[in-house]
Amino acid sequence: MWFRQDLRLADHPALSAAAAAGPVLPVFILDDETPGQWAWGGASRWWLHESLKALSAKGPLVLRRGRADEMLHALLVSTNASGLYFTRDYAPWSAALEARIKGICDSAGITCHRYGGFLLHEPEQIRNGSGQAFKVYTPFARACLARGEPRAAKPSPKTTWAQHDAGSDRLEAWALQPRKPDWAKGFSGVWQPGEQGAEQQLARFLDQSLRGYAEGRDRPDQDFTSRLSPHLHWGEISPHRVWQTVSHAMQAQPGFLDRDGEKFHKELLWREFSNHLLQEFPAFPDKPYRSEFSSFPWRDDAAALKAWQCGETGYPIVDAGMRELWATGYMHNRVRMIAASFLIKHLLLPWQAGEGWFWDTLVDADIANNAASWQWVAGCGADAAPYFRIFNPVLQGEKFDPDGAYVKRWLPELRDVPTDAIHKPWTLALPPRNYARPIVDHGIARSRALAAFKSISKEGLP
Ligand SMILES: Cc1cc2nc3c(=O)[nH]c(=O)nc-3n(C[C@H](O)[C@H](O)[C@H](O)COP(=O)(O)OP(=O)(O)OC[C@H]3O[C@@H](n4cnc5c(N)ncnc54)[C@H](O)[C@@H]3O)c2cc1C
Repeated sequence: MWFRQDLRLADHPALSAAAAAGPVLPVFILDDETPGQWAWGGASRWWLHESLKALSAKGPLVLRRGRADEMLHALLVSTNASGLYFTRDYAPWSAALEARIKGICDSAGITCHRYGGFLLHEPEQIRNGSGQAFKVYTPFARACLARGEPRAAKPSPKTTWAQHDAGSDRLEAWALQPRKPDWAKGFSGVWQPGEQGAEQQLARFLDQSLRGYAEGRDRPDQDFTSRLSPHLHWGEISPHRVWQTVSHAMQAQPGFLDRDGEKFHKELLWREFSNHLLQEFPAFPDKPYRSEFSSFPWRDDAAALKAWQCGETGYPIVDAGMRELWATGYMHNRVRMIAASFLIKHLLLPWQAGEGWFWDTLVDADIANNAASWQWVAGCGADAAPYFRIFNPVLQGEKFDPDGAYVKRWLPELRDVPTDAIHKPWTLALPPRNYARPIVDHGIARSRALAAFKSISKEGLP
């Protein structure tokens, strides 16, 4: 059983099939070669270490480092395996990798079994009237919902682990976690990676946050979202289990949770949509879906990029988000949108620069969700926010963090700023001295962004 982004035992179709066929040898391969520039980033590696530790406690996990196809080839031969089981993945390099592995199995006379499980619906199952992938979210979501409730989640299979002397790398020897400096020291107080942590997070969400999710999910100063994204990304919990648990809660209190539960289900469908788009357009993480954006006049400004990364732009809602990201490996979705928009539109820096930073710093960094979301904000995605809609970071802050509680949590230097100036401290007679002045003026940046967009827009501005 080749574990990938499916680091769980429950509701695991590939593992269930393997367990039904005989003793199972669980394997995880750290492959930094096949993904090229998209090898796991720093925060992902921190999470992966913890998640593998949790999984190893459940079975004799064999760890190998190198190209997945080569490592599997060697292991299949040396362990005399009769079959290989794994979960399908949608990253741009995965189809070719999976085909190579199938070829290796075929020539060695080993059966090769690929299962779904990362998504609720396989890309081939959701097609429009002409048999094509959907490019727009709303009809996509409608087509998913028309298929009815996803299949029910299943408990962990009864598994006999294989006795083997295949040898395993030591997890510590992979040095996945930072040491000097240990920039991830704040993570363990916030997260519990692994299957048990995922279940606990789901239970907490149901108890404390689902009621009110539809409205509250936009408020970074409140705790309404599930924070399941890294668990879903690493497959520590299946989307079926999450979907179904929310459905059950809705059914248990008819009418009471409908709006919140439906909204939450629709967010899970954004995850599906991103993955289906990636399957269809493997260049999605690197290239704009709308080709006219290839000639967008991006700026090259290392100092501005650094200020954004360090949370020193002078716009509190942007800076609070970037500091939350650094401290916890996570940023609230509303703030991700504001911070991403600021990089792209106020600083005119390429969305790929922000995507790369998020890739390295998010614990939920996900090739599909990250690419789709950055392209959405940039206006160059399949179903994207129009480029000319430019967030005003002051108004966004005042609307979604009205008391400034979120900003004050992450920017202690603004602790004493009165609420009416918290999202624009430069307007105070005596602005806090230890906080940056805005690196761009909103009005000037807005005009500059619109002019840049006009230069590539065939239709012109509305
Ligand atoms: C610029 C930018 C980059 C992003 N990068 C990532 C990323 O690398 N990985 C990632 O998982 N999400 C990414 N997102 C989407 C979203 O911000 C996170 O999924 C969400 O904040 C996770 O928090 P949560 O689990 O509490 O979400 P909840 O609101 O509880 O949502 C439940 C689940 O639905 C899925 N989901 C929610 N919103 C989205 C969305 N917009 N797109 C796709 N799936 C979604 C996630 O799996 C999430 O765990 C990005 C958004 C933006 C604007």
